[in-house]
Amino acid sequence: MISENIAQVQKNIEQACERAGRNPNTVTLIAVSKTHSPEAVLEAIAAGAQHFGENRVEEASIKIPAVTSQISTPVTWHMIGHIQSRKARDVVPLFSVIQSVDSLKLANKLSSSAVEQNRQLGILLEVNISGEESKDGVQAFGWRNNAARFQELVNVIHQIMDLPALHLRGLMTMAPIVETMEQTRPIFADLAALQDALQQSLGIALPELSMGMTDDYPVAVEEGATMVRVGRAIFGNRVK
Ligand SMILES: *Cc1c(COP(=O)(O)O)cnc(C)c1O
Repeated sequence: MISENIAQVQKNIEQACERAGRNPNTVTLIAVSKTHSPEAVLEAIAAGAQHFGENRVEEASIKIPAVTSQISTPVTWHMIGHIQSRKARDVVPLFSVIQSVDSLKLANKLSSSAVEQNRQLGILLEVNISGEESKDGVQAFGWRNNAARFQELVNVIHQIMDLPALHLRGLMTMAPIVETMEQTRPIFADLAALQDALQQSLGIALPELSMGMTDDYPVAVEEGATMVRVGRAIFGNRVK
């Protein structure tokens, strides 16, 4: 079941790449295992999954060691959920990539905790590109026509780049929930354009774009996603 689902998602990613003239090797599938058991994760690993996403520190602190004790080749764990500053210390030993860095304050905490724990972390800056109030992320809505907002993003990135033990690799966003997949296209295209503009302005590479979930990952791939975060299409509905 899980193995068939992974094969289907991989096939959909390949077809989206073909439509967009992209190499499928440039897209990493993050299997979002939140609420699912270590056994389900092990099944996904047996089916070839290498990257997993979790959104809660408490859950991950039980699941990740349980999975790790059962495998000989390590997999990569990505934190994708909001992190309260006081929990920053706890995520550091569990994850190698933190996708949900949504403030300079959190980046500072992660950096000092990583230094203390002698760890290096890949991070993505989470941005709120849709402008929805319910969304986490550094505000990026309307960045094209709002020079102050764009400059604030540039400043935040500059400061994050100076922090030890953190390696900024790109941007992450959550699209709004909409009726049809196609409605998310402008959001994903806007994030890709923001990536371009930031790279130009900062003179650095921000190669990763984490965007797209079960309901919209094919469109995200067409618009340039390098990481898609897929939960339900792999593991079924969430268990709690
Ligand atoms: C749960 C979650 C996903 C996966 O959602 P699905 O709709 O199950 O694919 C992706 N990204 C984030 C940040 C999530 O919290």
